[in-house]
Amino acid sequence: MKIIVKSIILLFAITSLSGCVSRGSGGKEYVTVEATGYCKCQECCGWKRNLLMQPVYAYGPMEGERKKLGITASGSKAKPGRTIAADTTIFPFGTKLKVPGYGTGIVEDRGGAIKGNKLDLFFRTHKQALEWGRQTVTVEVMR
Ligand SMILES: [Zn+2]
Repeated sequence: MKIIVKSIILLFAITSLSGCVSRGSGGKEYVTVEATGYCKCQECCGWKRNLLMQPVYAYGPMEGERKKLGITASGSKAKPGRTIAADTTIFPFGTKLKVPGYGTGIVEDRGGAIKGNKLDLFFRTHKQALEWGRQTVTVEVMR
């Protein structure tokens, strides 16, 4: 009997380690993610100007199509300290995430490289996005 209890505890310990979503005390949900920074520049968002100097997608299935700069995939205006791009199969649009060092943001954008436990944080300038770099952070999911 003791062995069974022990193995259940061990199993629980293993699953709570491997599954990144964990519940801390007080019903709070935390998730450890790899967070990068981005801004609305050409380098971060993959756009270029066409012959009429209009911003268009530089590559991908939308190549050559007009692109609205600073508008998120959910249609809102990207705001520094608020806009977060995530894998919306994990964090749907509207999910509030408390990111240490960034603030409490909302998932309102997507990105081709943002899959799984990855976040992209929107910054005002490219310099700020570079300064953030790539960080492994434990964020609080506020549902
Ligand atoms: Zn940029």
